[in-house]
Amino acid sequence: MTSSILVLGAGMVGTCTALHLQQRGFDVVLVDRRAPGRETSFGNAGLIQREAVEPYAFPREPGFLLNVAMGRGAEVHWHARGLWQMAGSLLRYLRHSHPKRHAQATHAYSRLIAHATDEHRLLMTAAGAQDLARHEGFRFVFRTSKALDEAVERAANLHDRFGVRYQAENTTQLAQAEPALRLPLAGAVHWLDPWAVNDPGALVQRYADLFVARGGRLLTGDATSLQSQGVGWSVQTTEGRVDAEQAVLALGPWADGLIRTLGYRFPLFIKRGYHQHYTSPAQLLQPVLDAERGYVLAPMQRGLRLTTGAEFAPIDAPPTPVQLAKAEALARELVDLGEPLPDAPWLGARPCTADMLPVTGPAPRHKGLWFNFGHAHQGFTLGPVAGRLLAEMVEGRHTWIDPAPYAPARFM
Ligand SMILES: Cc1cc2nc3c(=O)[nH]c(=O)nc-3n(C[C@H](O)[C@H](O)[C@H](O)COP(=O)(O)OP(=O)(O)OC[C@H]3O[C@@H](n4cnc5c(N)ncnc54)[C@H](O)[C@@H]3O)c2cc1C
Repeated sequence: MTSSILVLGAGMVGTCTALHLQQRGFDVVLVDRRAPGRETSFGNAGLIQREAVEPYAFPREPGFLLNVAMGRGAEVHWHARGLWQMAGSLLRYLRHSHPKRHAQATHAYSRLIAHATDEHRLLMTAAGAQDLARHEGFRFVFRTSKALDEAVERAANLHDRFGVRYQAENTTQLAQAEPALRLPLAGAVHWLDPWAVNDPGALVQRYADLFVARGGRLLTGDATSLQSQGVGWSVQTTEGRVDAEQAVLALGPWADGLIRTLGYRFPLFIKRGYHQHYTSPAQLLQPVLDAERGYVLAPMQRGLRLTTGAEFAPIDAPPTPVQLAKAEALARELVDLGEPLPDAPWLGARPCTADMLPVTGPAPRHKGLWFNFGHAHQGFTLGPVAGRLLAEMVEGRHTWIDPAPYAPARFM
């Protein structure tokens, strides 16, 4: 008999989870309060980061931290209330970022990242979405030789340990490869394996269209109405109450709010981020990270998208796009940005965990409930991998990646 399951949250992670469950014969209802891919999975830099084998650690350099504390630089911005709210999780994040523990996290994280492009390829092919992605990698660009040398050394190390491919470029090679860049830069690390998606929200929508075309139900509803119902779960939607035997929470940065009502206190926090599009007459060919300044420029269908680093603020605090203004000034040194498009800056929130690993697996205290969130800086990259891993667990068969490091029970 077909087993029914609700997937709450139609971002990249939830939509891919729904597709993978459907592929395994489940009767899946995907529920979101908005259309698919309209939140965090909409506004990111669109990178499918095959090179990101190391999760993003808490920066430990004293100079950097002093700058952050003083409100200098574009990389980080904070609200006192945000720091206060997240203090416990941030302290644990700092501890997990110790080199020894970070190496353990990298071991687990790299096993997910290793499959990111392969799993996206399968879904993109099925969804007819290959036109949205380019496969030429992206660059970390450097203003100083010292930073470039360190980055090249790190890239060589990652290549040896994880097989990620890169090319080191000097000033001339970089200028030839990206004629739109106008500062004489020290050079770049060109990561060759990542993909660049030119409309991240549209990719999620295509995956959701595939889910519907294959017979899946996509409904508008509020995940906070989730209730344990007899032996299963129910949620209120615009089409009335929907019951299912099992449920998956894939609410990205909103997961913490809901799991708290179920009695879970996990060390979760968010890093907010902004984007703005520019007309940019001089076209960048591939995305670049201005690595010593902490923002990304990514060519998109709507224009050149500038995305910012981390803002530590409550999820519902009003936007304070000060990083955007700083990053815009820095980006104008690098390229002819042209004019900003008239839209208000976009604001989203990376769903982070203190140990830098996602939360993928059974809810420890609730039968038939599953968690899939906390993919932080690489949720757009990891959606298909996370979706497949969770679907394999729900199916109860052997999983192709050992799920133990991502188990929600590690926080109990
Ligand atoms: C500036 C920025 C740049 C980034 N760049 C990259 C990048 O280049 N590559 C990369 O891999 N990652 C990137 N990320 C991270 C990535 O965007 C996220 O990790 C990812 O989108 C998380 O996906 P998700 O499906 O878990 O969450 P979301 O996409 O936020 O999906 C959660 C869904 O839950 C729904 N929801 C929430 N509450 C309710 C409710 N009560 N009822 C019903 N539905 C609800 C929301 O509407 C939403 O659709 C970036 C993030 C930011 C902020």
